[in-house]
Amino acid sequence: MKSALERIITEYNNQVIHFFRPTENELSRYFLNDVPEILINQVQLDERKYKVQASVGQGNWTETPWVSIFDREITESAMKGFYIVYLFRKDMKGVYLSLNQGTTYIKNKYKGRKPRTKMEEVALKLKAILDFSLDDFPATSIDLASYTDNSKNYMAAHICGKYYPLERLPENEELQNDLRKLIKVYQQLKAFMGLKNTDHFIDYLLNLEEIEDTQFQSDIQLVAPADTPRVPQTVPQKERTSEGMKWKRDASIAKEAVQAANYLCEIDPYHITFVSAVTGKNFVEAHHLIPMSLQSNFCRSLDVPGNIVSLCPNCHRSIHHANKAEKYLLIKKLYSLRKQALIDFGIDVPLEDLFVAYK
Ligand SMILES: [Zn+2]
Ligand SMILES: [Zn+2]
Repeated sequence: MKSALERIITEYNNQVIHFFRPTENELSRYFLNDVPEILINQVQLDERKYKVQASVGQGNWTETPWVSIFDREITESAMKGFYIVYLFRKDMKGVYLSLNQGTTYIKNKYKGRKPRTKMEEVALKLKAILDFSLDDFPATSIDLASYTDNSKNYMAAHICGKYYPLERLPENEELQNDLRKLIKVYQQLKAFMGLKNTDHFIDYLLNLEEIEDTQFQSDIQLVAPADTPRVPQTVPQKERTSEGMKWKRDASIAKEAVQAANYLCEIDPYHITFVSAVTGKNFVEAHHLIPMSLQSNFCRSLDVPGNIVSLCPNCHRSIHHANKAEKYLLIKKLYSLRKQALIDFGIDVPLEDLFVAYK
């Protein structure tokens, strides 16, 4: 494996200069035919389960050649789904081992709406969900030194991996171990996908917060309210959820907050919705004014009645999805209502910082 990677790194760019097209070229034949074979043999990949494929580009040489390992049940193409890939830098200073994603679905779905930020979001979600060690896979991002659309997509879509610089290419044993370990992470991802196809799974990841929040709101309906003393509270535990490690939210504290607000919308008490079948009260939802995801920045719990507001579903959707101007009006109003309560719970946050949190 080591000598194969080494050969590509040292010879590739030379071929690109001297041969206009990769067809009928000794190095490209070696890369396309022999390198996948070497990988399969050295890591003893079951070819019924995995497809290994290399690419030097279609027609013209690509700036960043690659060798991919596809779990056939997830995908057999670098266009879609998730896969493991060795991605070579354009300047051939080294090669990355990367757990990556095909980007065609996101590219089409979010055309003209910054699809790359969505690829990054999917990668970020998966980083949180998957259980792997940063000691094994320290490359939190990758730099291919290439700025083609394809390269930018690979960089945005990178989930986790490792970089091998040419001058420090590890021996075969380490390369094989790394690949075996990454295959385990890949299999974890597959388990999370469950029965969803890859497009469905991407939609699911991008909507996780809302799916999770819907569940939280129905839990609030059912539980009895807590009785939290109006003093600073210790930071809650983190728990492993299907979305990765998250700060624990307690539905009974949220219930306490909506009860204190008399089941009315704190933006406007005239926002009457409907009578909840569970509580027999006007239906409202609980929203953490300072998002729980920011808990690490605070030394007191954000999961306290002072930080939880009661909102009608319309105002709740607005505070998450409205345009900047409308969002800020809502935040400003709630902030002025809760400024003192936040201080009582030991939470001090300037309004400007809160605006930033909602960007
Ligand atoms: Zn909310
Ligand atoms: Zn409202």
